Amino acid sequence: MSPPGLTRLHAYEMAAHLRAGDVSARELAEAHLDRIEREGGALNAWFSADPEGALAAADHADERFDSARRAGAEGVGGILPALLGIPIAIKDLVLQKGRPATAGSRILEGFVSPYDAHIVERLTESGAVIVGRTNMDEFAMGSSTEFCAWGPVANPWDLGRVPGGSSGGSAAAVAAYQVPLAIGTDTGGSIRQPAALTGTVGLKPTYGRVSRYGIVAFASSLDQIGPFGRDVRDAALLLGVIAGRDERDSTSGPLAVPDYLGQLSADDGEAAASLRGVRLGLPRQYFVAGMEAGVEARVREAVSALVDAGAEVVDVDLPHTDYGLATYYIVAPAEASANLARYDGVRFGRHDDAGSVLGDYLATRGAGFGAEVKRRIMLGTYALSAGYYDAYYLKAQKVRTLIKADFDRAFQQVDALVAPTSPTVAFPFGARLTDPVAMYLSDACTLPVNMAGLPGLSVPCGLSDGLPVGLQFIGAAWDEARLFRLGRAYEAITASADWRAVEPTDLALLADPSTPTPAERIRRAA
Ligand code: GLN
Repeated sequence: MSPPGLTRLHAYEMAAHLRAGDVSARELAEAHLDRIEREGGALNAWFSADPEGALAAADHADERFDSARRAGAEGVGGILPALLGIPIAIKDLVLQKGRPATAGSRILEGFVSPYDAHIVERLTESGAVIVGRTNMDEFAMGSSTEFCAWGPVANPWDLGRVPGGSSGGSAAAVAAYQVPLAIGTDTGGSIRQPAALTGTVGLKPTYGRVSRYGIVAFASSLDQIGPFGRDVRDAALLLGVIAGRDERDSTSGPLAVPDYLGQLSADDGEAAASLRGVRLGLPRQYFVAGMEAGVEARVREAVSALVDAGAEVVDVDLPHTDYGLATYYIVAPAEASANLARYDGVRFGRHDDAGSVLGDYLATRGAGFGAEVKRRIMLGTYALSAGYYDAYYLKAQKVRTLIKADFDRAFQQVDALVAPTSPTVAFPFGARLTDPVAMYLSDACTLPVNMAGLPGLSVPCGLSDGLPVGLQFIGAAWDEARLFRLGRAYEAITASADWRAVEPTDLALLADPSTPTPAERIRRAA
């Protein structure tokens, strides 16, 4: 297979080829590294690639395949770990021992991780080839990946538009075939919304499904790590590797991790048949004011397709949805202001000298944090201050309980919910940059799910004005396996839809050396 052909494969297909011995992990790593090297600049999805580490991991994987093959047919099968030889990207807030981790922030310039995150241990044990670290909104605060200290990330569907955020680098890299799998984090929508805007699949797991040990914290009661892939089976494969209890994160759940991928049929007919008798709820509050007509149309068509395939869809009410945004923007900044207090110019990364302890502190934080992060720290500090704590923080936590109760009631009637992921398609650079509330509204359909700690899956469901639209399945706690089955079934019933054959529009431009970087493009347009 030609190197460009290799980058079009799904990870589970790569795994099959590796086991069959008709492709090597080195060939896979080189094909992806080549693409990143040649096409990386126009997208700016990568904070850093790690060719050396990736090729070493790939060679190690090849040795394991070789010795398994020498041991006989059985050795090549089940006992080899799931991701052996598969390239993957990780968001630049996941600690990797001995490597920089900036979380998109200048304040972490110079910081080198002293240990591996839990998920890095899991990925390494599973044989994954970590090819690099992806750009993100600073400390995962944002919905466009424009708040990145290392420049904005472009969307391969239109290089003048954002890929969503905050995991925009991971989403764009997967959409542009620079890597088949990537890790993101989702505090209020940062996996699902960029998945929707780039036509990829992204899952925010149940709070506690994946250990947060070794992840730069944003809002600890909301943050979850999750997978990106180009189809549901790949997202399921990756979640199966990273999920599970870890003693070092006391909020990680003790539940057994199902064989997510094993439950998904490769046969479209069989996958589609699983929709018969499924009860889905359509929350009317998720068709928010400001939703684009094209997005609503695609989502409603997707719902009709599910009904035609045998699912029952009923309207449900989640009456406190409207408060999701307001309460999230109390709780998340409050937790962020506490988590970000540790960046004092002494312990991590950057240090600016101003001649005194307080002076150094102010200079480091003044220069190290970007405007959006400062806004969150101010909002959070205000909400937590004496006299306001009860009125804002405590009140928001009470409303959070009501939001969760809405979902609990819904799941007494239905197996899962189906909704839009994002009210709009990818927007142009700069469109929401000067209006924080407009930016915050990008996550109106994803935030309540984090507030309730539930899993949510975004799958592509067509195009509006030539740009991808995302369909969101929301499940009861720990019900990721059901979401994957639903997502896979939706893929099966739309397998021959015309839009599935459409490639990201600006893919060809990425390979053209005269294509400017996103930052340069924005400068020229101004
Ligand atoms: N856009 C939301 C925010 O800025 C969510 C970000 C996220 O999920 N990390 O807070």
